[in-house]
Amino acid sequence: MEKSKDALPQNTLVMKYGGTSVGTIAAMQSAVQIICETKAERENLVVVTSAISGATNLLIQSATDAAEGNGLTSEKAARELTLRHHEMIDKLIQDPNKWLQLKMDINRLLSDFTNLCQAIKILGELSPRALDTVSSLGERLAVRILAAAVESAGFPAKAVEASQIIITDDCFQNAAPDMKLTTARCEKVLAPLLNEGIVPIVTGFMGATPDGVITTLGRGGSDYSASILAVGLRATEVWIWTDVTGVMSADPRIIPQAKTIPYLSYKEVSEMAFYGAKVLHPKSVKPCVDNQIIMRICNTFYPKKAGTLLVDNSRTTDIGKIKAVTSANGYKLITVSGAGMDNGMNVSARIFAGFVEDGVNVSMVIESSSEQSLCFPVAIKDVNRVIKMLNQVLEKEISRKDIEEIQISDTVDIITVICPGLKTNPIVIAQVLNQIDSKGIRIKALSYGASDVSLNLIVASENTKESLKCIHELISQ
Ligand code: ASP
Ligand code: MG
Repeated sequence: MEKSKDALPQNTLVMKYGGTSVGTIAAMQSAVQIICETKAERENLVVVTSAISGATNLLIQSATDAAEGNGLTSEKAARELTLRHHEMIDKLIQDPNKWLQLKMDINRLLSDFTNLCQAIKILGELSPRALDTVSSLGERLAVRILAAAVESAGFPAKAVEASQIIITDDCFQNAAPDMKLTTARCEKVLAPLLNEGIVPIVTGFMGATPDGVITTLGRGGSDYSASILAVGLRATEVWIWTDVTGVMSADPRIIPQAKTIPYLSYKEVSEMAFYGAKVLHPKSVKPCVDNQIIMRICNTFYPKKAGTLLVDNSRTTDIGKIKAVTSANGYKLITVSGAGMDNGMNVSARIFAGFVEDGVNVSMVIESSSEQSLCFPVAIKDVNRVIKMLNQVLEKEISRKDIEEIQISDTVDIITVICPGLKTNPIVIAQVLNQIDSKGIRIKALSYGASDVSLNLIVASENTKESLKCIHELISQ
């Protein structure tokens, strides 16, 4: 029986390339080779690409500077991005017609960018909507080159802008997909391409409102794009291609002995991503877990190495063994204290409500059992806002001296130790604390219990490296 053109293909694989995996000619060549080799084995392959490394930062900086009256950044960025993309086209595309078409497309998008920054400069204001239009340009440039390069290598491919497929709300910079609309678009736009044997190469990071206004899914959001498309296509696997070999037991730049973790549960990787291990976008994991989609993280530069396979929480291995240690950097510990705090004032409830109202993300809160003191780490960029909020919501208590002090610490970092089955293996906690103590490092705060797989410690920033190193020693034992 002949397949219907729009039928959803079976056994689809979505592969996502990060910025460094497409950031140079050599990286792009390696990505193309992997795509072609995979396509030769897998009938239904969809590729998602980020912008080339550094592009998104340049675009955002240009728009921000333009709003402040400085047009030089965007001029420089346009020159740099033209050069880098043109060089790639020169090396990767042989067909003269395609070469010309591609150069014209890139020039047109970059001239749109220059015009947009001009407009932002004249207005003196950068709206969230304009920022998404500018910041998503990097993916729109990269996708064209990658698709043309795959075609040049002999495999039919088509560049697709995700604004046609991933339909989101209008929460610019942090848009959420509408999965019903998105699934319908996957069926309408991507299924026919797959059924014709074409590899759709889709822009990561971006989506659009139902009216077609471009949105973005948050920094590093291309991983999330891959998961969203995988769900929409009922794909079986998502492979994230990056510049490290899977998820490592620590940041290899700090700890050269760090090694790839072969199996990691979804719960473990979520904790790691939340606490600063920049391997996966935190939102990219849940859609895959919920839909039983296998996730793998592999290295574009060592494609034969196995990388990390994410497994169902119930298939956790290595109970009671430390698997990784990571750090999230650049926080201040804020402590609210006062003898009158426990008088049924609901201080914590009001503080939490304030966080929600201000959109501030607080990843851990520690309260003393007397309820007379409460502390939490706040990202440095949010500290002023939080202090203002605390002074507002606690105004009465402060004036009555029920709250005596709001203290702000020096810069601290959050260290997260990943160990499955912590609750049944509390000895691990003792080992970690001993290890830190043996280096004479003082822990400023500690939280454990909310998750069975992670322990969080707060230390002064100057102690972070040493703490990571000595905890990592426990892994190799
Ligand atoms: N290019 C976007 C960023 O830099 C999205 C991504 O890389 O995943 O945030
Ligand atoms: Mg990333």
